[in-house]
Amino acid sequence: MKNKIFRKIINFLLEYPCPLCGCDNTGNHDCNSFCTDCLKKLPLLHGQRCRGCGGELDGALEMCRQCLSMPRRPWQNAMSIMQMEDAGKDAIYQLKFAGNTAMARAMAELGAPLLADKDFTECDMIVPVPLHWTRLWQRSYNQSELLAKMLAKHLDIPVKKPLKRIRPTTRQATLSRKERLKNLHKAFAVPHPEKVKDCKILLVDDVLTTGSTLHACAETLLQAGAAKIVIFTVARR
Ligand SMILES: [Zn+2]
Ligand SMILES: [Zn+2]
Repeated sequence: MKNKIFRKIINFLLEYPCPLCGCDNTGNHDCNSFCTDCLKKLPLLHGQRCRGCGGELDGALEMCRQCLSMPRRPWQNAMSIMQMEDAGKDAIYQLKFAGNTAMARAMAELGAPLLADKDFTECDMIVPVPLHWTRLWQRSYNQSELLAKMLAKHLDIPVKKPLKRIRPTTRQATLSRKERLKNLHKAFAVPHPEKVKDCKILLVDDVLTTGSTLHACAETLLQAGAAKIVIFTVARR
């Protein structure tokens, strides 16, 4: 609570420009988020969410049609902010390739209020999906870690990095689901399982497409002894 008030004061003093259009975003002292015009353009998701992907539900069941056709998800709940299209795509590209800290801050501001369910708030740690060190070297930062750190400020849950990417993988975007799974086989490891034993983990990534990367990460954490996994992504494709 104290944290929240403190942040409001800071936001009032520091005016953050809108990370999407760059306008000075004056008058929007409520959050470090996007300006009103950009907020309208972003393809935000609404209402009851699918526990499999965090997207909107398309029926009376707990999961959307796409998730029901997938192998069982190893996580218990999921949340996503927007659809990966139009302005949502621009926002993700800026987060991913432009090292945009302001974008991560704005996304966390939008995402945190969506994580009010006990499934998320009772987590012991936030774990970003790791990059292999060769990719990290090229990019100089991990967008998922940036997001995790910004979310942590809202949720008061520490960011930890027990998960390592031990094998570089080729880009997933052009691969089929079968190829993705092969590509990800033994790509992740938890070198110190005692650090995740019996822990509830909020796993964070930027985009969920088929969910195979998150699937591989979640399975690795569960095999290492984690008690429960829930996931958060900014966008759902
Ligand atoms: Zn804007
Ligand atoms: Zn779904």
